[in-house]
Amino acid sequence: MSTSSPEPLVIRSLEFMGGMATAVGWRPEPLLPEIAFAGRSNVGKSSLLNKLVHRKKFARVSNTPGRTREVNFFKINGNFVFVDLPGYGYARVSKEKRAEWRPLIEGYLSGSPELRGIVQLLDARRDPTEDDRHMLDYLSEIGVPTIVALTKVDKLTAAQRVRRVDELCLALELEVDQMIPFSAVTGEGRNELGEAIESLLAQPSWRTPAP
Ligand code: GDP
Repeated sequence: MSTSSPEPLVIRSLEFMGGMATAVGWRPEPLLPEIAFAGRSNVGKSSLLNKLVHRKKFARVSNTPGRTREVNFFKINGNFVFVDLPGYGYARVSKEKRAEWRPLIEGYLSGSPELRGIVQLLDARRDPTEDDRHMLDYLSEIGVPTIVALTKVDKLTAAQRVRRVDELCLALELEVDQMIPFSAVTGEGRNELGEAIESLLAQPSWRTPAP
C-alpha cells in the first residue's frame, strides 16, 4: 500500500453511550449504523478495539472475566456505533454460567435493525471452540455480513500463518477474503480491518428494518 494513502477509519471522537445488560434490557435507540465485535474471552478483543481506535484504554471495561458482562455501545465520530459484545466461553466458570452469553448476545443481534456487520475474532493459534462455532453458525443463520479477524498473528511465522488461514477457512467454510490477520502488538491488519468496516458501514442494512 502506498504510504501516502490516508488511514482508513479515522477516529475523531468517541463517546460511551451505555451498556445493555439483558436480552430485553435498555439499549440506545438504533439511529446510527452499528458494527459489533464478538469473540471468546481472552481472544484479544479489547486489544484489537484499542488498536483500531488508537486509544489505550477504550475497551478496558469488557476485560475482567467474571464481572457482570454487558453489551457496550460507543458512538464514533457522531455517526456510527461500535458494539462490544461480552466475551464468551470463559473456561474457568461453570457450564451454565458459560451459556449465559447466548440470550444476551443473540438478543442484541436479533433486536438491532441498524446492525451492518460483525467482526468475529478468532485466536490464530487455537482451534475454534464449540462456542466459536455456535456463534459463527448463528451469524450465518441470520445472514449478517461477517468479517473474521484472526488475532495475535505476531505469534505465528509467515508460513504457519498461511497454513492457519487455509485450515480455518476450510474448517469454518469461510472465504479467504473474509479473514483479516491482525496483531495488536505490531498493528498489522489495523488498516485492512478499518477499510472492511468502512465498506460495511457504507452498505444498507442487510435486513429490512423493523416497522
Ligand atoms: P479480551 O479478553 O478478548 O478483551 O482480550 P485482551 O485484549 O485483554 O487480550 C488477552 C491477552 O492476549 C492479553 O494478555 C493481551 O496482552 C494478549 N494479546 C491481545 N492481542 C494480542 C496480539 O495481537 N498479540 C499478542 N502477542 N498478544 C495479544
